[in-house]
Formats: sequence, C-alpha cells, structure tokens
Amino acid sequence: MKIASVIVDVPTKQTDKTFDYLIPEQWNHLVVPGMRVIVPFGPRNIQGFVTEIKSHSEFNSLREIIEPMDLEPVLSKELLELGNWLTDTTLCFRIFAYQVMLPAALKAKYEKKVKLAAGVKASDLPSPLSHLLDGGAMLDWEEALKQGLVGVLHREAIKGNIEVIYLVKERVKKKHIKVIRPAVAAVQLKEELKQLPANAEKQKQVLLYFIDQYQETEYKKLTSQYQLSPSAIKALESKGLLDGMEMEVYRDPFDHRVFQKTEPLPLTENQEKVITPIRNAVETGKHEVFLLYGVTGSGKTEIYLQSIQKVIEKGQEAIVLVPEISLTPQMVHRFKSRFGDLVAVMHSGLSAGEKYDEWRKVQRKEVKVVVGARSAIFAPFENIGIIIIDEEHETSYKQEDMPRYHARDVAIRRAQTYNCPVVLGSATPSLESFARAQKNVYQLLTLPSRMNNQALPSVEIIDMREELRSGNRSMFSRKLLELLKDRLEKQQQSVLFLNKRGHSSFVMCRDCGYVVNCPNCDISLTYHRAGVRMKCHYCGYEAPVPSVCPECSSEYIRYFGTGTQKVEDELGKILPEARVIRMDVDTTGRKGAHEKLLTEFKEGKADILLGTQMIAKGLDFPNITLVGVLSADTMLHLPDFRSSEKTFQLLTQVSGRAGRHKLPGEVIIQTYTPEHYSIELAGTQDYNLFYQREMMVRKMRHYPPFYYLAMITVSHEQLLTVVSETEKIVQFISSQVSNKTVVLGPTVSPIARINNRYRYQCLIKYKREPNLYKTLKKILDQYQTTAKNGPLVSIDVNPFIMM
Ligand code: ADP
Ligand code: ZN
Ligand code: ZN
Repeated sequence: MKIASVIVDVPTKQTDKTFDYLIPEQWNHLVVPGMRVIVPFGPRNIQGFVTEIKSHSEFNSLREIIEPMDLEPVLSKELLELGNWLTDTTLCFRIFAYQVMLPAALKAKYEKKVKLAAGVKASDLPSPLSHLLDGGAMLDWEEALKQGLVGVLHREAIKGNIEVIYLVKERVKKKHIKVIRPAVAAVQLKEELKQLPANAEKQKQVLLYFIDQYQETEYKKLTSQYQLSPSAIKALESKGLLDGMEMEVYRDPFDHRVFQKTEPLPLTENQEKVITPIRNAVETGKHEVFLLYGVTGSGKTEIYLQSIQKVIEKGQEAIVLVPEISLTPQMVHRFKSRFGDLVAVMHSGLSAGEKYDEWRKVQRKEVKVVVGARSAIFAPFENIGIIIIDEEHETSYKQEDMPRYHARDVAIRRAQTYNCPVVLGSATPSLESFARAQKNVYQLLTLPSRMNNQALPSVEIIDMREELRSGNRSMFSRKLLELLKDRLEKQQQSVLFLNKRGHSSFVMCRDCGYVVNCPNCDISLTYHRAGVRMKCHYCGYEAPVPSVCPECSSEYIRYFGTGTQKVEDELGKILPEARVIRMDVDTTGRKGAHEKLLTEFKEGKADILLGTQMIAKGLDFPNITLVGVLSADTMLHLPDFRSSEKTFQLLTQVSGRAGRHKLPGEVIIQTYTPEHYSIELAGTQDYNLFYQREMMVRKMRHYPPFYYLAMITVSHEQLLTVVSETEKIVQFISSQVSNKTVVLGPTVSPIARINNRYRYQCLIKYKREPNLYKTLKKILDQYQTTAKNGPLVSIDVNPFIMM
C-alpha cells in the first residue's frame, strides 16, 4: 500500500500542512513527488501537490487520490525543497510557494490534451493509443481518465513517445503545420515506384522524393519548394503509402526570426581579469557570489555570454535574469545570436501558451539558457552551472505578493544547491550588495572603464529655480534648448527623459487643484485612455472622467499624465522642425509597439526620443549624443528610505544612454534641488562617494544594510480596531525581541485606506533576532484563525515598497 502526502490548493492556515491519501493500485508506479493530483477534500475535489510517497500513515481511514493530473512530475525534488525554503523565509503558505514556480498555464483551468511527440508514429504505440492518436489526433485528458488509459500513457510518456499539452482556451491559437511522412518502409515505396503506370509522372516525383529523403516534411515545402503535386500527394496518402498530419509547432515568440550568429569577442585585459575567477568557479563547481560592478558600456554582457559559454561546454545550464523593463528585443538578440536555439526566453509579454512552451523546452532539456524576468529564477533546470542577475539593483526583482521573495535570495539558494557561481551585475549596485562586497561576503569584480575607453558623458546640472528667476517659465532650460537645436543642426539624436511620479497619471482640476480620488481608498484614480475612464489600482473602482470639477465646477479638469504629451506639445511649438517619437504607456500599449518605435528611432526616423522610465535602459544607439532629464526630483519625495538610491541609479542609467559609441555625449539634468547629494553625485557619476554618503544616512536612521527590516500591515474597516490591534502586535513583538531591536508603530500607512479598509503599520528594524520569524509566524497564525471580519495582517520580511 502506498500513501502520498499532499499539499492541497486551499490557502489557509489550517490547510498549510500535508494531508495523507491512499494511492489507488492502478497508479502505484505513476504517482511520485512533484506531481499534481486531484484529491477529495471535504465535500469537494481539489488540486494538490504530492510532496512525499510513504508506506504508512499515522492516520487511519485514508481517502483515495481521485486521479493524477500529470504524467511526469512538474516540480523536481530540488524545487519542492526550494518551495519549503520559500515558505519558511517569506512566511507564505506552501501552496503559494509551489504555484509560483510553475507557468500560469498549469495553474488555471485549461484544456489538457495528449498527443504524439514529434517524430513518433501512432503505429508504434500499443493499442488503443495507436488509433486514438492516429493522424495527429489529440486525446482529451478527461477522456483518457475515463477510459483508464493513464497507466499506458505514463509508460509512453517516459519513453518520450507522447506528451501532454495545455490549450489555453481563448488566448492562444494553436499553431499547426501540415506535414507529410512515409507511412511504410522505403522498400515498399520503391516497390510502388516500379508498379506505377508510366504516365503517373507526378506520383513518381513524390515517391522519389520520399525514397531519397525518408523523413517527415512540411507540406508547404513539398508543394512550393519542391514543386510536387498536391493531388499526387493526396493519391499516395489514400493508398496508405504516405501519412499526412497536422503537427503542433511551438508558438515561437520570435516568429522564427533568424538571428545572425555572433562569435565571442576577444576580451580586453580588464574583462580577462574579471572573467577568470568566474570561469574558475564554473570549472571547479564552486559556489560563490560575484558582484560585477561596471559602468554602462563596460562590457558586462560580453562577460555573461562568455561565462555561459563555459557552462555550456561543461554540459551545464544557465539562468540569466534581466529586469522586465530591459528585457528588450536588443537584449534578447544578444543571447539568441550567441546561443541560437539553446535559449528560452520568459517574460510577461508572452501569452500563457507561449510561456508554457518556453517552460517545456527547459523541462525537456531542449535549451541550455533561460533569459527572463524575475520568475525565470524558478526555471526547472536540474544541472545549473551559473546564475546571472543583470541590473541587480532593480527593485522589480522583489515580488510584492505572496510569496514575497527576492530573486537574488532564490538565486543564491539554488546556486548553493548546485555548487555554482552567481554573478550580480550593475553599474550602480544596490547598497546591500555593495556593502556585502566590501565585507568580502561577495567577491567584487570591477570593470572601471567603458569599451575603448570612451569618456563617460559630461553631465551638467541645471537649477530650474534659477531659470524661473530669470524669467524662463518653460519646461526646457535655456541650456537644454540650445543643445537640442545644436543636435538638430548636426543631425544627431537626443533623448528626453521625463521621470514618472510614483503614482502615474491622474485627473486634476487646473483651476483649483482638485485631484479625483478613489472613494474607497486614499489614493488618486489612474487615468486610462481607453474609454476615457479612471480606475483605482487597489480596489478596481472605475468611473468616467468628470466633465466639470466636482469642487469648483471648472471645465478645466483633465488628465494630468506622465506629462509626455505635454512635453511633446511644447516641443512642437519651440522646435517645430524636430521629428519626435514619444514612448510612454499610451504609445506602447500594443504588442510590438515598443520595438517598432525603437527601431524607427534607430533608423534615424526621428531626432528626439521622448519617454518615461521605459527608455532609461538598454538603449545603445551610436547617434545619441544628448540626454536631457526634464525633472530629476520627482522620485526623491516618495515615502521610501531608498528614494535617494533610486534617484541616483536612475539618473546614472539615463546618463549612460549618451555617447556610447564614437561621438561624445552630453547630459543635462534639470532639477529644483541641485544640492541634494543623490543628484549632485549623479552629476559627477561618482558611485563610490554616493555609496559612502548614503551609508552614513542608513546607519544613522537604522536602515538596511545596517539593519534588517520587517513590516507588518494591519487593515480593518474600523479605524479603532486597526489602531488597537496594531498596538497589540507592537506590544507583543516588543516583549519577544532584544532591546537592540527597534519596533516602530502603530503608524498610519502612506496609503491610509484601501478598499474601505484602514491601514496601519508596524516596522521592525533588527540586526540579529534568531526567533523573529517564529514570533511573526505566531502573529500570522493568530490572525488567520480569528473570525472572518477580524483584521487582516500581512507581513513582508524584506519590504521594498513601504506603502
Ligand atoms: P554593458 O553590458 O556593461 O553595458 P556591453 O557588454 O553591452 O556593456 O558592451 C558595450 C559595447 O562594447 C557593446 O557594443 C559590445 O558589443 C562591445 N564589447 C564588449 N566587449 C567587447 C570586446 N571584448 N571587444 C570589442 N567590443 C566589445
Ligand atoms: Zn476645480
Ligand atoms: Zn480604490
């Protein structure tokens, strides 16, 4: 008798543990850890993950597993363990930790089918599969279960003869191509060739082709490229000599584009110095974390590529994380051109079906490299040789929903398991990472100069208050305008960057300053161009944009967007001859729009590229010689202890867009607070000095990297309840921790109310508190078991968003 321990798909405290189920005899060999199953739970049937197989249970009268959901495990042993670690370190439910590692197609309800694997003939399979899957037919999973075929399917899956696919109902159109293949042995084809009447010339041609090329061939190719006759093919098909079938092809997000192959570049002396310890770690299979600190354009990506080369030669696999926003076609190109089909790409622009396809390529070991955004860190490789995180300082590597993990922590955890190096790359490392490198926890590798020793662009900071005093009321300083004109004359390109506010676009009355807020949440509504509506990002409340101001009845109430539209209008007035491309949420909404606009700019179809954060990264065009930052301070005033760091990083990134090639670059930063050190030091591009200044501030204010943080947010409909419950939590924690730990609160959250629930916080700053997680878990358990209308408590043990 075999018993499976199962984590069921019910995210509550009471169900956050394994339940035992009997494995029915017929699936004895099939059900293994990491597989999903359907189990009875109370009156319902639900999904679960098998975590363990054992021979007895401490409970009696166990219920049986209803059916397996997979033929092969979807989580390896390593990933199951990683899930447990995620559960413990982020204080989430185990079911969330498992689910986050899988592509969405496996999470929701999708049509599930069984089909022949590529290159396998139905006739090779045992009956009844041979006829159920004949001619490329797909077998419905439900049907297979009903007919008791799961056992035989499992055996064939292990042999690689069949596979399971997910059809996402409306979003994905299956891509099929028609192929023709020989249905009989080559000798029989020759036999037929002899027997054909002399005038059956066309059939003979087809037969000759298949005798010569005894293989599956795309139908279109046969008829167009080889000029074979469709009716002759059909005739041979009906004689049973050829087999025509529809074959599913991977939905290739790059539409079968051919990438020009690139060869490794001979490394510079500096690059050699930097890559040697990484290569050594790969070669000897040693876990180590490297911080690759190099200015933009210093050749970091080439280091990644050649380190991966080494990993592939060793027969191992590589994961490369890139922030979503810089997972641009340019970046993907560089990996695809070096490693071709060995690369899978995972990012949020793919449909659920495409993501599943990429994930399958990894699972089936068809690729060696994954390039992707945050969640690609869970790629189901089983022999990882290196993990690279580019732009490691990016805050998007932290997930804000359960499980609230940071990809850097997961990377290090997996690399420890596989004894392989982690490379963190950045031109402006996070303070945490740089501090660790200073203490030799990470090994610091530096690329101090740009390729070919190009000078970094010269940066000038313009005090906009001065401009105003001298009577310039425009959003362009005199200097910036002068340089823009200069570039127009020289036919060089400029980039104008508008720093987006923390809360994107809102609707405001220009007469009285009234901002339209959500009636349920203390936050402004976001403008959506489609349908001229406003939406609340927190509770989903929606309303049309009012035509008059509710406060003062003025008609001048309107969208106050990222401001790019406004900048574009003004450019049209002062530089009417300039051709401008605007990139923001409005102009890049459609799939592929982003790439199209960039290509146009690259091809010189515009003089000025105007945009928000999305143009800060990855742009590498030779003709850009001027970068203007229109408003450097907008981010400085967010309620976030990292706001100086983020401002410095962003300004440095943006400046790096200019003069990356032969022509020297100039940068103009416009600001109302030129004396702030993060702006001043971005001006001199002095990371080291910024690091020292900011470290002093962090030390003084007890923030990371000197202290760890944990943030508890409590919410409830009644203000009094929130305050008193938060107070209780603060008291409880204070009683459990050492007196070196700071417990702050209750304080009102920067967003004081969401969805009609008031929100209060408690912030814990600590250095060493071995029992803190236990204490926090106790609090979570306590509140997860209280009555339905009790307060909601969420805990983030490494918060990046302080709201
Ligand atoms: P980063 O990733 O640090 O921004 P890149 O790797 O993109 O830097 O390098 C900047 C430019 O220099 C790219 O155009 C790249 O092709 C080129 N480059 C990098 N390494 C070399 C090398 N060893 N020899 C010649 N060109 C190089
Ligand atoms: Zn008004
Ligand atoms: Zn709301």
